[in-house]
Amino acid sequence: MNPENSYACHRCFKDKVLFEFIRQKGQRGWCNWCGARNVYVVPLYELGDIFRDVIPIYSPGDINGDRLSYLLQEDWNVFSERIEQSPDNLMQELTVSILKAGLDPKDYHSGDYPDYNDFFYRKEEWLVGHWQDKAEAYFLNGQKRLKESFPSIHREPIDDLPDQLEAAFEDLSRTYEPDHILYRARIHDERLRNERFSLSEMGMPPPEKSTAGRANRKSESVLYLANNARTALAEVRAWKGMAVAIARFQIKKPLSVVSLLNCDMPESPFFQEYLEWKIQLGALFDRLAEELSQPALPNEDENIYFSTQYLCDWINKSGYDGIEYPSAMGAGYNVALFRSDHVEPLDVRYFRVKDIIHKYDELVRDELPYEEGPFDYLFMK
Ligand SMILES: [Zn+2]
Repeated sequence: MNPENSYACHRCFKDKVLFEFIRQKGQRGWCNWCGARNVYVVPLYELGDIFRDVIPIYSPGDINGDRLSYLLQEDWNVFSERIEQSPDNLMQELTVSILKAGLDPKDYHSGDYPDYNDFFYRKEEWLVGHWQDKAEAYFLNGQKRLKESFPSIHREPIDDLPDQLEAAFEDLSRTYEPDHILYRARIHDERLRNERFSLSEMGMPPPEKSTAGRANRKSESVLYLANNARTALAEVRAWKGMAVAIARFQIKKPLSVVSLLNCDMPESPFFQEYLEWKIQLGALFDRLAEELSQPALPNEDENIYFSTQYLCDWINKSGYDGIEYPSAMGAGYNVALFRSDHVEPLDVRYFRVKDIIHKYDELVRDELPYEEGPFDYLFMK
């Protein structure tokens, strides 16, 4: 059998999109690859273009790279266990056979196609790198002292990130309809005050009292909310015995926010337009969501949040009302609104923290107390 003229079946694949494609397009028959009988099969050339469209996300490299079958499996779980666990490198053979199927050998060797038997690498996350450079330049522009310590950092204008980033905001945006409820907690941290916080004290602090956060600079007011009371409570990190006020806020008019909750990779790489760009964006927003969700430490240099502040500036300037991002402290998520006049506090209730259960592991020898943040080098003493 010439493998390129063979048939593969839907059960050769775990990828849902391919699985469905073959079930719909295929005819009943015997699979030449996994050996299943009476299954839906298609000739490999039907899959050729579909697979070839994905390969540009990888670049051919040297022997330290990986085989394409391995990368496809590792990154996207393309093949079923039957194929993955077959002996004799069947998964690699199937991958290469699909990639060559339907191509005239003359075209394949013309130089327009990589050698699919080669080793390949994942392309670098250049958009994350670009963001890093921009945010860093933006930050150093405002920090004369640091600017002198990092003369080699190339300073670029801050507003030339690709327009597509704004298009991405649009893809990630969602609307909160009027009447939607969000929560905000505040520790009752005045021991000598018996009077409870009023509704008006549950909103954002006045500019002169506001400290820097992930989404705002010092003296800039942003209203931090959570999607449920438990997450709001977890975010203020109260300790046992403390009284905490939790207020409900109601949205008054439709608000458009950029959501970083589900911004990772597409589920399947097949039949995707702009796959490479989506992967780059996924990596960037994933990184930013992670940065946003990290709790601020009490003794931290407030400037260390500049990267997410920069992102929030951008989103604000693009006309959105706020941003939502995962909570590292609670099971829900956070919402930071750039203005507070589109929400109304409804009521406030008081709770006492009865218990906090800590789960912990001892650090192993030489384990760092914190993972290094992406911009820590700017703040090292
Ligand atoms: Zn099969």
